[in-house]
Amino acid sequence: MSQPRTVYLDHAATTPVDPRVLEAMLPYFTEVYGNPSSMHRLGRAAERAVEDARETVARILGCNQEEIVFTSCGSESDNLALRGVMLAARQNGASAHLIISPVEHDAVAKTAAQLADLMGFAVTVVPVDRYGQIAPEVVAAACREDTTLVSVMYANNEVGTIQPVRAIADIAHPCGALVHTDAVQTAGQLPLDVRELGVDLLTISAHKFYGPKGIGALYARDGIRLTPSQSGGAQEQGRRAGTHAVPLIVGLAKALELAYEEVDIHNAHSARLRDRLIAGILDRVPDAHLTGHPAQRLYNHASFVFKDVDGNTLLMHLDLAGIAASSGSACKTGQPEPSTVLLSMGVEPTWALGSLRLTVGRQTTEADIDYALDVIPEAVEKVRKVGAWLA
Ligand SMILES: *Cc1c(COP(=O)(O)O)cnc(C)c1O
Repeated sequence: MSQPRTVYLDHAATTPVDPRVLEAMLPYFTEVYGNPSSMHRLGRAAERAVEDARETVARILGCNQEEIVFTSCGSESDNLALRGVMLAARQNGASAHLIISPVEHDAVAKTAAQLADLMGFAVTVVPVDRYGQIAPEVVAAACREDTTLVSVMYANNEVGTIQPVRAIADIAHPCGALVHTDAVQTAGQLPLDVRELGVDLLTISAHKFYGPKGIGALYARDGIRLTPSQSGGAQEQGRRAGTHAVPLIVGLAKALELAYEEVDIHNAHSARLRDRLIAGILDRVPDAHLTGHPAQRLYNHASFVFKDVDGNTLLMHLDLAGIAASSGSACKTGQPEPSTVLLSMGVEPTWALGSLRLTVGRQTTEADIDYALDVIPEAVEKVRKVGAWLA
């Protein structure tokens, strides 16, 4: 029996490392292995690699090198932004209020919940519309005298919707609040210039743009005090302790540089395949809706809900046919409850349980899309029939 083909449509969960990125990283495992904090030659060579990487990231974000903090992942960057800013405000003796949206990644949502539940901070979750978009006016309405931080993601991982970050920042700043954006899904697709975006803090993670897993960065505007969430050594100007992951830092910078050198080519390729997927699924599957914004969405992102379908069962059927996809966010698979992101957008629970996320990438081909459009409608019908028998 021949193995079924593998069609990877889960690039929002992670991406393969670009071979050029791997090549750039390799010398820093075995040859230039010094600790960047060491005084000697090997240490200085490693430090130079870290600082070159920082310069590359700063150039793409349009900021100063000192404004970049390397972390272990996107989640850690989000944690540091929220906990760091809120705890620093408290250290200053200020009462501090945080605003987030209901569609934030758990790295923001659960950190905010911890700040509220364990540390007594005031947190407001503002509503989103049916596309999962945050209106700047709702942020304005939620702003208080003591609002310290507004954290809204640049684009959503589950439904692909792009947020009006600039407009939200323009509203939050006059209130005296700082603005953080989780740009993990947007890095490599949309401009990351922090001055243009008007944000004070911004999170990225390398494995979402063809870099290695386990490395992220946080932009924190000059002058922003961050209480470190990981304390210890004085690395990253005391903002994040721990010996630098030199090969991973080199990989993050190389991946980011390549992604923006080639951004137009990749976006055009993704958008063409995404649009075929969306049109094909809506055409061939009865009782199917696109989730997220129809136009203001990530170039590679197609997401749906199907009425009366168990999303996890559907994923298993697709996996057997060699299609790697996701239901809602990858971190949530195995959990049978409907996605809180979809519920916050007003999706009915009977529909929200049947969510499917298909995210294309650089190596996705037209033939992959043909195959997916052959397999998915049949799989949805099969899962629907079984569900109806069991009901
Ligand atoms: C993947 C993701 C994260 C987490 O990044 P890690 O590097 O995997 O910790 C955070 N936010 C969003 C929007 C993501 O998609």
